Amino acid sequence: FYVPQPFAVGQEVTLPDTTFRHAVQVLRLGVGEPLILFNGEGGEYVAHMSHISKRTASVLIDSFSAIDTESPVHLTLVQAVIKPDKMDFALQKAVELGVNTIQPLITQRSVVRIGKEQVDKKLLHWEGIVVAACEQSGRTRMPTVQAPLTLERWLETPLSGTRMILAPGDFPRINAMPADLPTPIALLIGPEGGFTGAEVETCVQAGVMPVSLGPRILRAETASSAALALLQHRFGD
Ligand code: SAM
Repeated sequence: FYVPQPFAVGQEVTLPDTTFRHAVQVLRLGVGEPLILFNGEGGEYVAHMSHISKRTASVLIDSFSAIDTESPVHLTLVQAVIKPDKMDFALQKAVELGVNTIQPLITQRSVVRIGKEQVDKKLLHWEGIVVAACEQSGRTRMPTVQAPLTLERWLETPLSGTRMILAPGDFPRINAMPADLPTPIALLIGPEGGFTGAEVETCVQAGVMPVSLGPRILRAETASSAALALLQHRFGD
């Protein structure tokens, strides 16, 4: 269970509301039962339910394990915003596949538009997807989700390492990149309608490497999972 606060062995921790609902009302954990907490900073805390009331529950932290399930390569998924259920799928799979940062992107062919007033709500929703995927996949470091940016604004942000844009075409295959490619790696994936030729060209001019996944056109959410799996296979773990 993700509990976003610092804690230490021997400490009693009150569960946040969402964790209380999940642990007590859904999973029906009782007093004395063991559970594992993580706070997103790395490592797992083994705890047991120490107190349950109608609306709250607390746990006592018994021990800490410096378990590390992170990949050695730092990956940023720069994912053009796609339809909500597909975006959720793409983010969930990206977290399972070890991505560290998620940067939603607004591009020329983005069908889904996010008004300024919707940004906070969207971010909360995406962070919920990330938390659930971390809990499911046993990740103890929480990936970050950034506020959406236009492609132009993202290109202005200084980044070290390698930036790649995934676009169908006669580009080098993503699985044939040189092994000494500078890391971290940021990977751009287009929306349902793809990037425009001008967007790909702007990226190339800005030093972003165009890469392909081969002759078949994958849906955006399939493309991001396939590409991240290939990058982890080649550069990570
Ligand atoms: N007709 C669009 C095009 O030509 O870009 C198809 C877009 S595809 C459904 C959505 C995104 O997935 C693309 O913008 C690209 O980032 C990625 N993608 C899908 N298949 C790909 C492939 N074979 N090679 C590289 N990128 C691919």
